[in-house]
Amino acid sequence: MTVSIAIVGRPNVGKSTLFNRLVGRRAALVDDRPGVTRDWREGTGRLGPAQFRVIDTAGLEDADAESLEARMQASTEAVLGEADLVLMVTDARAGLTPLDRHFADWLRRHDQPLRLVVNKAEGKAGDAGAAEAWALGLGEPVAISAEHGEGLGELYEALVEALPALEADADESDGDDGEGPLRIAVVGRPNVGKSTLINRLLGGERLLVGPEAGITRDAVEVPWRWQDRDVVLVDTAGMRKRARVVETLERLSVGDSLRSIRACHVAVLMVDVTHSLERQDLTIASLIANEGRAPLIAANKWDLIEHPDIVRRQLAQQVDAALPQLRGLRAIPISARDGTGLDSLLKAAFAVREVWARRLPTAKLNQWLEGVVAHHPPPMDKGRHVKMRYLTQVSARPPTFALFVNRPKGVPESYRRYLVNELRDAFDLSGTPIRLNFRGGKNPYASPPR
Ligand code: GDP
Repeated sequence: MTVSIAIVGRPNVGKSTLFNRLVGRRAALVDDRPGVTRDWREGTGRLGPAQFRVIDTAGLEDADAESLEARMQASTEAVLGEADLVLMVTDARAGLTPLDRHFADWLRRHDQPLRLVVNKAEGKAGDAGAAEAWALGLGEPVAISAEHGEGLGELYEALVEALPALEADADESDGDDGEGPLRIAVVGRPNVGKSTLINRLLGGERLLVGPEAGITRDAVEVPWRWQDRDVVLVDTAGMRKRARVVETLERLSVGDSLRSIRACHVAVLMVDVTHSLERQDLTIASLIANEGRAPLIAANKWDLIEHPDIVRRQLAQQVDAALPQLRGLRAIPISARDGTGLDSLLKAAFAVREVWARRLPTAKLNQWLEGVVAHHPPPMDKGRHVKMRYLTQVSARPPTFALFVNRPKGVPESYRRYLVNELRDAFDLSGTPIRLNFRGGKNPYASPPR
């Protein structure tokens, strides 16, 4: 099933920029005939792993002030019947206008799934604009910058929340079972060898089909194949042009990395093994964990290492100590220069994606829960027993669990960590971020779904 998303709002808030951002260079598919057969254009939009039909309502920049409101309503009315979700866009910089308010009131009278998107929200002005937009009474605004490609991760979350079918579709096309293209990004500090690796991977006999527009500005997605399996390399152009860009290294590498990380399944953190891990390496690793992507370390320049066993052990120790939230994170020795270790790297990438996408049956989880809680019960909270009632996996990619507890605030962080570690060991979830949230209340399901 393809879901349809319509972009509506007054002129100049950036509807078309958002449309172009979502549709990207697949603009060839755009049916751009304003006023001829209908007053909108549409294309195939993509955000992260999700694909959908996206409809942009007429620009109306030429409409005079008196007729504007009526024409906005008319053009929006035409798409309401077509759309599974409407995105009303406002402008954080201009602030709310009377027209925004009228239009929001009018929209609210329709029984239509709707999300408010505050565009042009980059920088400080953005925060104020987003806060103001609550006043429209359309719920929590999603702050983005369509122009700068910011907030797209949040937009994706909001879309999936409103349209769960989007995620199901994405799961299908990407394959929970490890089928479908593996979306991989290579991130890391400058000079660790990222460009060398990318050139290696895409050069030689591997099939380079050609770049396509990616999720963010400057991002390209390069489809290729590795051992008969589809891979999409997500790359930010900024990364390759980096040498010519004048910006502080710190800012550049983190900002760039974040954009690539958000658009991939597996984020390969490349490190230079001739140096020990630096703060910046760890910052990027934490970004990967926080964004909930599947991580892998490419330990590059292995060709320069004289005592591989010692370095391997040191690296493993450093990683374990510095990144407990990614326990089991693998570091694959490679030489991007010589092309060694690349098959192991790709193999490990497919493997960690499989772990990251795994779904565990509720019955098994609860059996396990009973065992670990019996073995090591949670501490009392203000003299009261804390009861762990029911555990279920609410989503995959990364594995995310809800644990229903009588006193969710009474579970100490150390106990949460204990459960996550045990869960990781019991179900072989090593090297992926795991989310475990405590919820109040009773078992939400009369009988467990599985
Ligand atoms: P980037 O900034 O991460 O994209 O790094 P580059 O790919 O530009 O590489 C930085 C430097 O490291 C260049 O001089 C490369 O030739 C060198 N380099 C990259 N990979 C390797 C490797 O596997 N072994 C060795 N010895 N040098 C490498």
